[in-house]
Amino acid sequence: MSRVYNFSAGPAVLPEEVLLEAAEEMLDYKGSGMSVMEMSHRSKVYDSIIKQAEADLRELMNIPDNYKVLFLQGGASQQFAMIPMNLMKNKKAAYIVTGQWAKKAYQEAQIYGEAVKVASSEDETFSYIPDCSDLEIPEDADYVYICENNTIYGTKYKTLPNTKGHTLVADVSSCFLSEPVDVTKYGVIYGGVQKNIGPAGVVIVIIREDLITEDTLPGTPTMLKYKTHADADSLYNTPPAYGIYVCGKVFQWLKKMGGLEAMKQHNEEKAKILYDFLDESKMFKGTVRKEDRSLMNIPFVTGDKELDAKFVKEAEAAGFVNLKGHRTVGGMRASIYNAMPKEGVEKLVAFMKKFEEEN
Ligand SMILES: *Cc1c(COP(=O)(O)O)cnc(C)c1O
Repeated sequence: MSRVYNFSAGPAVLPEEVLLEAAEEMLDYKGSGMSVMEMSHRSKVYDSIIKQAEADLRELMNIPDNYKVLFLQGGASQQFAMIPMNLMKNKKAAYIVTGQWAKKAYQEAQIYGEAVKVASSEDETFSYIPDCSDLEIPEDADYVYICENNTIYGTKYKTLPNTKGHTLVADVSSCFLSEPVDVTKYGVIYGGVQKNIGPAGVVIVIIREDLITEDTLPGTPTMLKYKTHADADSLYNTPPAYGIYVCGKVFQWLKKMGGLEAMKQHNEEKAKILYDFLDESKMFKGTVRKEDRSLMNIPFVTGDKELDAKFVKEAEAAGFVNLKGHRTVGGMRASIYNAMPKEGVEKLVAFMKKFEEEN
C-alpha cells in the first residue's frame, strides 16, 4: 500500500486511523454481522451510531441546547436554496460575496426574494475579506449570509461581520471543526462534510430552534423544510447513513486529538510552515492579503504558467497530489485540512525549496 500526500480541496484527505477502523468494521460492524452500509437506518444499532455522532459533535463545538443538528443530503449547494426558502420571511436578505460559493448562494437566493449584495471582494479576484464592521444592512433583511472560509481563494473571516442584530448564516464547509467557534453568534452554521470532516454525501446544518418554523416560502418541498428533518431527528427518510458513520468516527478522532482548541494550534503550526516559506521565496508567492489568510486552503503562484504546470507535474510524481489551483485563480492550491499531517506540509515545503533551487 502506498498513500500519497493529498492536497485536494474536496473530497479530501481523511485521518488514516478512521479509514483503517472503517475497513476493519466493513464486513461485521460490532457483532451485527453486517456492514453499516447494509443496515436499516431504523435499527437500534444504527440509532446508536447517529446519536453518538450528534453527541460528539455537540461536545466538540459546544453546541447549546437551543440549536438542532441536522444531517442532510444535497450538498452545501442545496443549502443555497433551503436557506432562503426557510428563512426569508420578509423576502429579503443581505449577502457578502467573498468568492464563488458565496456568489452562487447569492444568485440562488435571488430566485426566492431580494438578495442584497452588501459587500464584495470580486474587484480583486476575491483575494481579501472586505471590512464588514459597518455595512448597510437593510432593516428588514431576514439574515446576513457569509461564506466563512473561501475554499477557492484561500481567505477566511478573522472577525465575523457586524450584522447589526440580524441573524448570521454561515457556510463553513471548508473550515468546519478546524478551530473553536462560538455557535451562539450564528443562526445557522452549515457545511458539506467532504472538505474537512468525512465522505461526500452529508451536509451538516446547525440551526437555532426559533428559525425552524412551518412558515416557509409557498411551494417549499417537504424535503427542503428544516422542520421536516428537525422533527424526525434527521431520520425523516433514509439519511446518508454510511457517511454519517464515518463523520462520527472523525468526531471521535478529533476528541482524541484534544478537540478544536488543539486542532486550531495544529492547523496554525501547519499553515505557518507554508506561509513562512511563501513569504521568503523568490519563486512562489501567496495570492491572498496576509491578514485574511485561510488556515485550510493556501493558493500560490510562480507568476509563470508554464513553471506552475511543471511544478504541479513534478510534485505529483513525488507523491504530492491535487496541487493544481482552481481554474479561476490558476497556479497552485494546497488544502491542508485537519487530517493532513504536519509532516505532509514540511515535506511539501522541502520539495518546493528544491524545485526553486533547480529552476
Ligand atoms: C465545496 C463547497 C461548496 C459546495 O459543496 P457541494 O457539497 O459540492 O454542494 C459550497 N461552499 C463551500 C465553501 C465549499 O467549499
